[in-house]
Amino acid sequence: MTVALGMPALPPPVLSERRQTRQLHVGAVGVGSDFPISVQSMTTTLTSDVNATLQQIAELTAAGCDIVRVACPSADDAEALPAIAKKSQIPVIADIHFQPKYVFAAIEAGCAAVRVNPGNIRKFDDQVKEIAQAAKDHGTPIRIGVNAGSLDKRIMDKYGKATPEALAESALWEASLFAEHDFHDIKISVKHNDPVVMVRAYELLAEQCDYPLHLGVTEAGPAFQGTIKSAVAFGALLRQGIGDTIRVSLSAPPVEEVKVGIQILQSLNLKQRKLEIVSCPSCGRAQVDVYTLAEQVTAGLEGMEIPLRVAVMGCVVNGPGEAREADLGVASGNGKGQIFVKGEVIKTVPEHAIVETLIEEAMRIAEETGDSLGQGEPVVTAG
Ligand code: SF4
Repeated sequence: MTVALGMPALPPPVLSERRQTRQLHVGAVGVGSDFPISVQSMTTTLTSDVNATLQQIAELTAAGCDIVRVACPSADDAEALPAIAKKSQIPVIADIHFQPKYVFAAIEAGCAAVRVNPGNIRKFDDQVKEIAQAAKDHGTPIRIGVNAGSLDKRIMDKYGKATPEALAESALWEASLFAEHDFHDIKISVKHNDPVVMVRAYELLAEQCDYPLHLGVTEAGPAFQGTIKSAVAFGALLRQGIGDTIRVSLSAPPVEEVKVGIQILQSLNLKQRKLEIVSCPSCGRAQVDVYTLAEQVTAGLEGMEIPLRVAVMGCVVNGPGEAREADLGVASGNGKGQIFVKGEVIKTVPEHAIVETLIEEAMRIAEETGDSLGQGEPVVTAG
């Protein structure tokens, strides 16, 4: 039996159209409203340690990262850039603070883009002409990355603190200097740790320019807090069509940032959904341990590369309904699980066989749809 996964003929609905922007390319990745929103992260290794950095970039690539940024605080790091830029499978952006000479080094090294923080590069404005010329010669876009924690002193003197207006004005001022030299391959970010300030700053930018915008809540915190801050802030902006690349900043391994970023985009239909677990929160009616069951199914199907909605429901109240709506599902009760495939009960299995059966059926669906599983055979962790 060939299972239709119910993929809609039309693209899934989104909350709003993208804001129209200029377009640019970070390596092979198109950035701007004509291109999908891309997910970025940043390595945590010493950039001078080429092997460790490339290893982490490979992990990020496998997790679905589109663009990676590497810090470049020293001459050793700058020396490592050519090898990293050459061997990385995804475009590498060099992240430059303080030292303008590393901007030129990164451009020469073949980095796909350079992020500069004009607030802490000495006499940055005096060097815009040379930077613009070098970037133009090499076809290297520049990200003007303004951060609340390192805002230009003149702007701080004017506003007293990093207000949305201050962040936007700082970025637009720097962009105008590049524009004076006829350089427009610019992407802008204005990061703040407060989502309210950050959202307003991006709204102001979106009103006043057509450059692509890179979204980020900076220093968002540990994984739990940072995930929520980033999700609500990005959601508020993406709802308005604002945002062309995103980075979720977490005090956690960068692969986690990528997973969260992808999930945010998938949740808003801005990236094709893959595995989606629809599981109930459980309640006093539950006749099965829903938390454990959902975790086991999620772990067992990790790496599933086809779009698949799997319902894991604790009882017969909403269970059959949700399980029917999903591609694959289970409604549990009385020590058994009714297994649904596209709305049809295909079998009833004892509780201990639910996870294993769901995984078997998912693999069968994957094979029948001709797609592959991303990370090899799913693993049954328990059940
Ligand atoms: S599906 Fe059943 S167990 Fe789960 S929350 Fe709803 S009523 Fe409770």
